Amino acid sequence: MQRELHCRVSETLWSALDERARSTGESVSHIVERALADELEVDHHSIFQVSTSGAVVKGVYTGCVSVGDLRRHGDFGVGTFDGLDGEMIMLDGRCFQARADGTVSEAPDDALTPFAVVTGFHADQQFDLPPVGGWADLCEAIDGLRRSENVFVGIRTEGRVERITVRAACRSVAGVDLVTATSTQAEFTLEAVAGTLVGFWTPSYARAITVAGYHLHFISEDRRFGGHVLDIAARGLVLSVHQETDVHLAIPETAEFLAADLRGDPGPALDVAEHGRPARQR
Ligand SMILES: [Zn+2]
Repeated sequence: MQRELHCRVSETLWSALDERARSTGESVSHIVERALADELEVDHHSIFQVSTSGAVVKGVYTGCVSVGDLRRHGDFGVGTFDGLDGEMIMLDGRCFQARADGTVSEAPDDALTPFAVVTGFHADQQFDLPPVGGWADLCEAIDGLRRSENVFVGIRTEGRVERITVRAACRSVAGVDLVTATSTQAEFTLEAVAGTLVGFWTPSYARAITVAGYHLHFISEDRRFGGHVLDIAARGLVLSVHQETDVHLAIPETAEFLAADLRGDPGPALDVAEHGRPARQR
């Protein structure tokens, strides 16, 4: 929920604000919000993540943080559920579970997640995206609007898609690696559906922690269709971005996580499991 704040400031402060907004392209309200959050020590532009992508690749699927806890750290994000039971889409504080049987339901607060990435989403900037004919097109369109290769970005789009293909991970026993577990994933394609893309762009230096590049989930406006996005064609999407400059990592204390061998680069396995193909070279 957003509140409106009206207040008087000096000419000097106003000029400085205006100057900052011009030079960075940020909105005045965003600069004020960030300054207030800093002064009041409120989390802002923070990602809260449960576990690591490397652990998921190795089959560490036991849930360790509840949806209720997750919601104290954000209102927007992606993830999965205990036992790799489908895809998580958190949007405007509601947490949805898209399962491999094609159903979407609201996850209760006591549902557990083994991996999730959430933030308190506020749009720093909005853009009208050009028509996109596929996943690579979408990535390229957003690439041109990001300010840096080195800052995490929350990504939200609204609009109607012409075609979208999503997957929903199938429940798997712990210890089955992610590539094997997602080789039997359910995939669904829908045409002409309104909805929201929810997710993040992550710098490649963080690939041992989370999914590098674009990681987007979709939920339809009627909340009956969703999943991890594999392909999309759309025109007229409106993109909102939220720069993330602070990352909090909650490391599971489950026996499974503590004993996992997390050495090595999970990147190549993630490219196959999350994009169904080797990632674009960036
Ligand atoms: Zn995903």
